[in-house]
Amino acid sequence: MNKIQMTTPLVEMDGDEMTRILWQMIKDHLILPFVDLKSEYYDLGLESRNRTDDQITVDAANATKKYKVAVKCATITPNAARMEEYDLKEMWKSPNGTIRAILDGTVFRAPIIVKGIEPCVKNWKKPITIARHAYGDVYKSTEMKIPGPGKVELVYTKPDGTEERELIHEFSQAGVIQGQHNLNASIESFARSCFAFALDVKQDLWFATKDTISKKYDHTFKDIFQEIFDAEYKEKFDKAGITYFYTLIDDAVARVMKSEGGFIWACKNYDGDVMSDMLSSAFGSLAMMTSVLVSPDGYFEYEAAHGTVQRHYYKHLKGEETSTNSVATIFAWSGALRKRGELDGLSDLSTFADHLEEACISTIESGKMTGDLARITSMPDPKVLNSEDFILAIKEELDKFYA
Ligand code: NAP
Ligand code: MG
Repeated sequence: MNKIQMTTPLVEMDGDEMTRILWQMIKDHLILPFVDLKSEYYDLGLESRNRTDDQITVDAANATKKYKVAVKCATITPNAARMEEYDLKEMWKSPNGTIRAILDGTVFRAPIIVKGIEPCVKNWKKPITIARHAYGDVYKSTEMKIPGPGKVELVYTKPDGTEERELIHEFSQAGVIQGQHNLNASIESFARSCFAFALDVKQDLWFATKDTISKKYDHTFKDIFQEIFDAEYKEKFDKAGITYFYTLIDDAVARVMKSEGGFIWACKNYDGDVMSDMLSSAFGSLAMMTSVLVSPDGYFEYEAAHGTVQRHYYKHLKGEETSTNSVATIFAWSGALRKRGELDGLSDLSTFADHLEEACISTIESGKMTGDLARITSMPDPKVLNSEDFILAIKEELDKFYA
């Protein structure tokens, strides 16, 4: 066949461990045979980050600003164990944190629904999309260990040199502190992207924080959302027949469990991190969730929400067979290719992305799946495939569109 042409490169960010193995298989079997791939490649694998003093991550984020669309593989966020394992110069920061700090924006995560994989919360009938604020809070915080007695304060030094101080704690013994920040502009763009997304998909929007306890920090989030909603979106929501609903985070969690789904749940950065893993697992598997960072400047970064699947990678290294689910990583590719097609007016490319996703779904619905899904499917005799055979089974389905 004539390969589908691209005009603008997309930014390709390779990653670590099992997902790095899947990345290559996906390219070899599902992308390169069909698409004349134009990509600018950045190796975000931990060795490459260590070698470049993490400059490669910054370069990749800046390239995303240039080309507007990126696809990212899962990457290791180093901890003490990884320092030793990879003999690192420094405990490099989370690449996702670095990229999100540069691009700003909101991460939208939605479950990929297939017949035969039912949510374990039985009243969930429709997908729940998480909209995770991608800037600031604990992901861009400064921490200190306090070794012993002493006073710790917040200090704001104004441009004219005068100071405003707030006591954090008068320590009489050892402890820890953490300084977090956010920016009104970032919260505003978070709010607008959530409202715009809700209108786009015609679903209610929920937002929750802990404003009763955090009377300035979280309350600012609540106020900004409400002001923007009242001024810019209320009429549009009324017209579309959808609602904006604010509540406390603990109340939201309780209501989500009792709901039937079908709404967007806007979360602060940390809440979104934690809740999206809970939701994706409850909807089926960590590997059955799409994730895209939408920046206020119109940059899009597609990724899988799960990690590098370390346990499977160690099996793979020992020569043992793995059955790792590549669906979320494939949907990262399809999302990026579809967006590239939209931005560049290449309908063949966007259609290819649709076909690639349909091929994943029909493969699973035909009973061929990876171990994580076989364990929870309601289908009688699922066929468990290894990592590569699953991708090859998807290729068979994809070939049908291009015979
Ligand atoms: P993980 O990679 O998400 O995997 C945790 C467990 O979930 C796996 O052991 C596996 O369960 C299951 N799982 C996740 N993805 C799967 C898939 N595609 N197919 C089948 N099963 C899957 O989390 P982790 O092992 O705790 O973290 C490994 C590394 O990933 C860490 O270094 C962390 O820093 C990094 N991480 C990266 C990102 C990112 O870049 N977006 C996100 C989170 C974590 P079983 O073992 O029971 O089969
Ligand atoms: Mg997470």
